[in-house]
Amino acid sequence: MKESNNWIEKSKQHLWLPFTQMKDYEEDPLIITEGEGVYLTDVNGKRYLDGYSSLWLNVHGHRKREIDEAITKQLKKISHSTLLGATNIPATELAERLVSITPANLTRVFYSDSGAEAVEIALKLAFQYWRNIGKTQKQKFVTTKNGYHGDTVGAISVGAVDIFHTVYHPLMFDSYKVPFPNVYRNESSDPETIKAEGLREIEKLFSEKHEEIAAFIIEGMIQGAGGMNVMPNGYLKGVEELCKQYNILLIVDEVATGFGRTGKMFSVEHENIQPDLMTIAKGITGGYLPIAATMTNEKLYEAFYGDYTELKTFFHGHSYTGNQLGCAAALANLELFEKEEIILNVQMKSKYVAEQLQTLNALEHVGDIRQLGLMIGIELVKNKETKEPFPWGDRMGYKATLKMRELGMLSRPLGDVVVFMPPLASSFEELNQMIAIMKQAIKVTTEAVVAQ
Ligand SMILES: *Cc1c(COP(=O)(O)O)cnc(C)c1O
Repeated sequence: MKESNNWIEKSKQHLWLPFTQMKDYEEDPLIITEGEGVYLTDVNGKRYLDGYSSLWLNVHGHRKREIDEAITKQLKKISHSTLLGATNIPATELAERLVSITPANLTRVFYSDSGAEAVEIALKLAFQYWRNIGKTQKQKFVTTKNGYHGDTVGAISVGAVDIFHTVYHPLMFDSYKVPFPNVYRNESSDPETIKAEGLREIEKLFSEKHEEIAAFIIEGMIQGAGGMNVMPNGYLKGVEELCKQYNILLIVDEVATGFGRTGKMFSVEHENIQPDLMTIAKGITGGYLPIAATMTNEKLYEAFYGDYTELKTFFHGHSYTGNQLGCAAALANLELFEKEEIILNVQMKSKYVAEQLQTLNALEHVGDIRQLGLMIGIELVKNKETKEPFPWGDRMGYKATLKMRELGMLSRPLGDVVVFMPPLASSFEELNQMIAIMKQAIKVTTEAVVAQ
């Protein structure tokens, strides 16, 4: 047996992959063995452009020398020691760096290992904050419909993507869901009207229920897993103002949008937002190692500070929190942001990509192209005029993405939204190649189905 087939067999026998129907995996298995720059290589030696940044993580490409070296250097000192009641140098240095690059009010860093954990921590901190200051009736959370904040039980309780979350309803705590100001599918086509309507809904809820609401959680400027939906300008600013007005904490989830993805270091910078809590993960280590953090301000921090016997302590923590190798990778990542002017480059590249993507608009079944920085979704529809979707079971997004794989590019769709999230350091040439592959794959796939 060929060695590659052997690995594929073993993977089918023993693995259960996240967010994966294993029947699909059996039909189209994929084992990655190497990466270099924006390319990934599979066990058969086929090369692919990493069109989804290995699930929205990668920044500078794979095997980036500076990050590789930072990890090996740290490896020679120590790989891990605990953050429970102690700290280490890389975690301390990284905390200082994070405070310096996030909104000015955020002064405290609470580490964890994944975006979902960062969200759980934000929720628990917000909940306990009100308790610690004696406002015990403030217990509820508000989220946007179609919002996504990770897969743990707390995170799905403030999530609202039906296909992921409905089955777990009996497990979840209740949260209020306000409509998301969706610009593509809306009675109005005017973003200003859509924004105003969205804010009105929030104000209505806040004015009735603010005494029982602990916090509002929202993704920064664009919903990711909910389908790459960009918020109308001024909406997030409006949310911030309403939270202040009604004494409700604002949690901005920057797990997907942080670290340059939207053309700013953090998406809150687009509207000069100062959240009470901010969650960061994905791009933090350049896509190398699992580090996440929940950032907050002195007001929250102080509400937990006191004598042990006052029972204000935040009793939460994970084994690998503050891991030295991860923090060393994150520090090297942040240095590269400066040295290689990543933010400026993302701004230029996203402009270029927006122009190039216009050619996809000409395709009969491309309904909408949504983009903020290098965070892009291309929605496929059966009827462009009426925006009628393809039947759910046709799996057009999935099929288009499989075709892309055949043509040498990897991604993962969100329903019928084709996801384009290239590594931020992709060259113009590489971006061009990826766009050409997506165009070809979408054309072939949608035309084939419609012809049937
Ligand atoms: C991916 C994501 C999460 C979850 O992060 P994990 O590291 O996968 O747990 C949370 N929030 C948002 C907005 C995300 O995109």
